[in-house]
Amino acid sequence: MNRRQKAILRRNLFLGFIALVLVALIGIIVFVVSAINRKTTEKPQNKDTSSLQSENSSDTSSKEEPEEPKTVQLGEYTLDATYNKLLLVNGENPLPDDYDYEGNLTEIPKEYIKGSLTQIDKDVWVYLKAMLDNARKEGIDIGVWSPYRSYNTQKMLFEKQVNKQIQNGVPKEQAEDKAATIVARPGTSEHHTGLALDINCANSSFEKTKAYEWLKQNAENYGFVMRYSEEKQPITGVIHESWHWRFVGINTAKKMNQLNMCLEEYLEYISKTSKH
Ligand SMILES: [Zn+2]
Repeated sequence: MNRRQKAILRRNLFLGFIALVLVALIGIIVFVVSAINRKTTEKPQNKDTSSLQSENSSDTSSKEEPEEPKTVQLGEYTLDATYNKLLLVNGENPLPDDYDYEGNLTEIPKEYIKGSLTQIDKDVWVYLKAMLDNARKEGIDIGVWSPYRSYNTQKMLFEKQVNKQIQNGVPKEQAEDKAATIVARPGTSEHHTGLALDINCANSSFEKTKAYEWLKQNAENYGFVMRYSEEKQPITGVIHESWHWRFVGINTAKKMNQLNMCLEEYLEYISKTSKH
């Protein structure tokens, strides 16, 4: 082996060594990276399995629960239990100024009326009529005090209250806020939807009547809930109104009562559960 051949051999050995070192380095890098990957994916993988398990278990539990009925028979009335109306109207969710339900309103027959207003959503009337008829068959004195209120009726009631406050010495700039604690600002009354009504009267004396007791026991069967309870005032922003009943639907009303949720809470609840 001459000097030149020795030099070539040395260079080849050196290159071979470098190649080995590179392969070893790459091997280490691949190992470390895959180890890190395994660690970071471990948690979500576990999560996936557990959520799958909980989904499976909730599937089985919902199978054990009795299925919600499609229809219910109440006296002579057969009602669709799945029909619902979940429109939310409150201080933060007003209806547009020009919102009008008149296209879907119907006239409530005189024998059911106790006040001066006479219209309600025609689909809701089917349920309300069944409820009033069946309650009356049980000897309950029950009728409609205040159902649908148009924007103009609300405006008139609100302005009347504002003027009353000004006459009572409340400064003009505070009169509207003060009035709003007593009468809903125009466009924020649930009566505007045609889906709610005051029964018999609109004051706390209603709480002492048989009609109130009957409604607490039976209204959900017809799709109505007591919209403003004392307990939920921090959420609804409205004082306890035992006389104000809102149609939501039969299965929905039962579910809301079972969960002890007002409409605001229930809508949040179903928006969360429907995302899964
Ligand atoms: Zn009311």
